Amino acid sequence: MSEIKGLRQITPYVAGQQPKGQDIIKLNTNENAYPPSPKVAARLETFDTDQLRRYSSLDQSALRTVLAQQLQVPADQIIVGNGSDDILSMAFLAFFNSGEPILFPDLTYGFYKVWADLYHIPYLECPLDHDFKLVPEAYIGDNGGLVLTNPNAPTGLALPLSEIEAIVAANQEVVVIIDEAYISFGGETALPLLDKYDNVFITRTFSKDAALAGLRVGYGIGSPKLMAVIQTVKNAVNPYNVDMLSEDLAVAAVTDWTYYEETCRKICQTRDWFSAELVRLGFEVLPSQTNFILAEPTTVSAQDLFEQLKAQGIYVRYFPTIERLKHKLRISIGSQTEMVRVLEVIKTQLGLTVP
Ligand SMILES: *Cc1c(COP(=O)(O)O)cnc(C)c1O
Repeated sequence: MSEIKGLRQITPYVAGQQPKGQDIIKLNTNENAYPPSPKVAARLETFDTDQLRRYSSLDQSALRTVLAQQLQVPADQIIVGNGSDDILSMAFLAFFNSGEPILFPDLTYGFYKVWADLYHIPYLECPLDHDFKLVPEAYIGDNGGLVLTNPNAPTGLALPLSEIEAIVAANQEVVVIIDEAYISFGGETALPLLDKYDNVFITRTFSKDAALAGLRVGYGIGSPKLMAVIQTVKNAVNPYNVDMLSEDLAVAAVTDWTYYEETCRKICQTRDWFSAELVRLGFEVLPSQTNFILAEPTTVSAQDLFEQLKAQGIYVRYFPTIERLKHKLRISIGSQTEMVRVLEVIKTQLGLTVP
């Protein structure tokens, strides 16, 4: 057989595993520790399946309307997608066409590189400093756009709004994407910048704070100027990208946001308790503003602990191929009960308790 011409070669994003089983504690993809709002379950039960004969809405006005109320931004400055990955992917296509390299940190959401490659967008990775903090000065100067995750993943660290604003103010000729996937767990939102800057595009997801990763809903918020461009990309790629059921259930989630404020508060409490316990055991733990922590064991290797936890049915994330992360583990914060168990297992592995 002869070689086939024109086949694309791409290094894909590698997502965390989705192991199945009863006694598994799954702390490897930053999913929410608690179930979705009971209002979501109730809405699912009353959903009229006959409606599925029809195409989903083209503009998600129902969801955009409730989001606009929640966020206090005009509904026409919100665009909804099939997860925030969908929104981010469209944003890369829509906003980064100058031919100049876009900038993002060397340690951040692994998908940015993949989209840049996929869409032939040149990019430069700006190293985080020794303490894993973003270096604002690295983003001043000619570039084709910026992508900042705030709070950042996988570090969990947040940048204050004043520093985000300084970066935005120095880059008003390009689009600055601010990925706020974890904003409900800490950090300051960049929403106030929307009134002052028309080059800011904020992305959010229902996957982490709203416990709806399986539903695939995310959204972007930006100026009318940016909305017009990304809307044309959406129409060129997949106009019905948000299915009818997802939109309906996401509306139910937004209208019960006090439920989520409570679950996110519980997760933050568990995070702070668990981090302090690990520090007591000699771990180095970055101060997280997200629903995960980045922790480095000092008396065992990250790889050994990763394997030992896995053998006990506890799945965390380990990045052996990334130089600056290979001694660390990223541990999503589960329920308090789960994290008590995880701590017990870790203590046993470190030889601090009798198994
Ligand atoms: C989880 C995550 C996303 C993707 O969210 P989906 O809405 O599930 O596609 C995007 N950015 C960051 C930083 C994330 O952690």
